[in-house]
Amino acid sequence: MRKVLVLEDEEEIREFIMINLKRNGFEALEAGTGEDALEIAKKEKFDIAVLDVMLPGIDGFQVCKKLREDNKTMGIIMLTARTQEMDKINGLYAGADDYVTKPFSPSELVARIDALVRRIELMEVEKPKELKSGPFKLDYDGRKILKDDEEIELTQIEYSIIKLLMENEGESLSRDFILNKIWGENYVGSWKIVDVNIRRIRSKIEDDPSNPEYIKTIWGYGYRWRKED
Ligand code: CA
Repeated sequence: MRKVLVLEDEEEIREFIMINLKRNGFEALEAGTGEDALEIAKKEKFDIAVLDVMLPGIDGFQVCKKLREDNKTMGIIMLTARTQEMDKINGLYAGADDYVTKPFSPSELVARIDALVRRIELMEVEKPKELKSGPFKLDYDGRKILKDDEEIELTQIEYSIIKLLMENEGESLSRDFILNKIWGENYVGSWKIVDVNIRRIRSKIEDDPSNPEYIKTIWGYGYRWRKED
């Protein structure tokens, strides 16, 4: 069953959407503020988010942006009271997939959600299950990395760093970029934590950690997963 998060501060509209989603076979989660929605997103997985734009506190676009950063395949529909083009442009930059202008009929909203679900299903079929580079294999479903078919013991952070590097093979990534991607933009701390983790990863994956073959240091900048020659 597909799960939908409904973010809408007006209770009546929210209830109306919830009832209609359930009636159409969706599981639905509800949030009255953007802050609540992001809290829910930390704990629960959902396939579609329906986000009202005008909210007390952080607005729907900010929520959209945050959700999109963490999940590329989630379907996001913005509910907008205004029809101005500006809203749509903002939504596009924030990573929304679609818009529904208020007032809307339940069948219209459900039809848009159905369309997004079909698109997600296509993406899931096409999603790669693994990524290979030299002796390494990244297993997406198992969240693990194998070297010569042997699993390497990694923390979630270490796994995420290797994944980020492998997905950008041959590209130099700055420490700041890695820090933002792995620890989040709100992390208060130094990029030194990146170095500490890289050192630990090297000791686990490199044949000679002091002369690394896979994770190259870009002096004064960051790191690069070597490109296969
Ligand atoms: Ca509102």
